[in-house]
Amino acid sequence: MTDPVPPRHDPHQSWRTEGGPAPSPDRRRGRGGCLVQAVILLVVYLAFGFLYSNVRGDGTTSVDYTVFTAQLDAGNVKSVYSRGSQIQGTLKHADPVPGGAKGDTYTRFTTYKPAFADADQLWAQIVRQKVAVTAEPVAQGPGLAESLLVSLLPTVLLIAVWVFVARRMGGGLGGAGGILGRKPPKPVELEPGRKRTTFADVAGIDEVEGELNDVVDFLKHPDAYRRLGAKMPRGVLLAGPPGTGKTLLARAVAGEAGVPFFSASASEFIEMIVGVGASRVRELFAEARKVAPSIVFIDEIDTIGRARGGAGAGGHDEREQTLNQILTEMDGFSGAEGVVVIAATNRVDVLDAALTRPGRFDRVVSVAPPDRSGREAILRIHTRAIPLAADVDLARLARATPGMTGAELANLANEAALLAVRHGRDRVEQKDLSQALEKVQLGAERPLVMPEEERRRTAYHESGHALLGMLQPGADPVRKITIVPRGRALGVTLSTPDVDKYAYTEEYLRGRIIGALGGMAAEEVVFGMITTGAENDLEQVTGLARGMVARWGMSERVGRLSALPQDGQQAYGLPAAPRTLDAIDEEMRRIVDECYEEACRTLRDHRDRLDALAEALLEHETLEEADAYRVAGVASAPAGTAR
Ligand code: ADP
Ligand code: ZN
Ligand code: MG
Repeated sequence: MTDPVPPRHDPHQSWRTEGGPAPSPDRRRGRGGCLVQAVILLVVYLAFGFLYSNVRGDGTTSVDYTVFTAQLDAGNVKSVYSRGSQIQGTLKHADPVPGGAKGDTYTRFTTYKPAFADADQLWAQIVRQKVAVTAEPVAQGPGLAESLLVSLLPTVLLIAVWVFVARRMGGGLGGAGGILGRKPPKPVELEPGRKRTTFADVAGIDEVEGELNDVVDFLKHPDAYRRLGAKMPRGVLLAGPPGTGKTLLARAVAGEAGVPFFSASASEFIEMIVGVGASRVRELFAEARKVAPSIVFIDEIDTIGRARGGAGAGGHDEREQTLNQILTEMDGFSGAEGVVVIAATNRVDVLDAALTRPGRFDRVVSVAPPDRSGREAILRIHTRAIPLAADVDLARLARATPGMTGAELANLANEAALLAVRHGRDRVEQKDLSQALEKVQLGAERPLVMPEEERRRTAYHESGHALLGMLQPGADPVRKITIVPRGRALGVTLSTPDVDKYAYTEEYLRGRIIGALGGMAAEEVVFGMITTGAENDLEQVTGLARGMVARWGMSERVGRLSALPQDGQQAYGLPAAPRTLDAIDEEMRRIVDECYEEACRTLRDHRDRLDALAEALLEHETLEEADAYRVAGVASAPAGTAR
């Protein structure tokens, strides 16, 4: 929720500032299939090695030959067993282990007869003492079968584990009809008893539905198109942030047209054993052709469709082979077969140009988070099956949820239903929805007893954020301040805009930086020191400052250049020269330093308001919008979105 940078199609609509030590989450996409296999194999190997070494141990104490002869002289040897120069035996009664720890005794022993020891004399003594003797020929180690087994066992085990892992991962070995077999992809929408997904289940992205209408039409009447020789786009690429309904939409297209739906996630292809990806693709398309008209859906296509030749860790060849296979399959369509490929990605910017070439995914449809009325419609869909109390106002909820995606709204509706159940109600009331929204926006409450001093510091930290948020002209209104620990944060200040915003002014961005620095500034102004609680805030600040300087042309010195790509994306132009990077760095610092100074100055000037807010927070723990503005003595933000 705290991505501070408003990307182009994903206006960041609500933001929050948190206090609290926050280990930064690892956001990397796991592509650890091979790694997992390697680790499993290693563990098995080690485990086996361990067992194997124990097989050799036979619970006897190994003693010097002289110890053995001494025992023999003492008449304490009960039996011996000889193989080659090795002599094993048992004692009549236990004796202390020579050189062993106190109390250690032994009755079974092993020793080796030196070549120069007199065998005849030894034999005479053994006979004299009536020691029981067994012997075996001087075999060179274990028998053939046994040694074969022992030496092959690790290998056999390795292969067995490999096969097991391969099966678990849904792959096989080698090409089509691979030796290990695998489950064929299934057309999931044909399951009986499961309601088909249709456009009625999708809302808030009407333009996108419109764009897909002719695909539906084509799938319904492929013959009509064939007669006229009209060509359909072979591939449709749905591009948009996660949770905006891309998968849902692809299913809905299949549902509307009443055709089978084959789906696979691109990451599945490359998490399997090398060489499997391409054959899986071949199979998938073969199945789809058999029952055409049909839809092949490939999710997360960016995982294999990244621009080639770029940086990329292992699995590079695998990716490329899989991608090539997809392209080959698409090229192979005559267009009359009636297989439409729909792919989804949230990283359309990194895709290989070969993918979006005409005849492949030549139709790119972007799917954006819904606007206010879209959100209302989505909430309606996801509360269809939920009995709602009369006081529920979905339009109001839609206003309070700018920036939320369809998936987040679906989750919100579900959380509200869960809350109603927990409270023993038979309908969902508005307060369930408000509470669910709070949980979704702020994170779940965390029972954590804080020392009084830390509570105080948190109260000032959050008050700093909130007061600056209230005082910045044009800033998003403060909706809620709390020092109840939530999620990873010790306290939260939530601000959301009144209306959906799609572009941001420089003033607004500076205001957000100042607000985000407010927590740290308050700690410095009031306590004369800072804590680790501002880690998240600083991440936001850095992201915003970098955007202003290097992406949005808001620094005179760096100029109107897109000098740094959005994190993790590819640059459009030349990579920035070291001199530019230095300038970016200095400009970011300048902006942040100026903002920090302004934050401290404002808080000093309004120390009475800061104290009032902090005291109120310490007393009530949570302040709602109206109370917060009243306590701070700041004219309330423009009316409109009270929840
Ligand atoms: P994506 O594939 O874009 O990441 P999904 O299609 O998997 O998103 O969406 C996850 C869930 O969120 C869907 O199953 C649906 O319940 C809900 N959802 C997302 N977008 C919408 C929408 N536009 N209309 C209705 N429900 C939606
Ligand atoms: Zn903070
Ligand atoms: Mg999806």
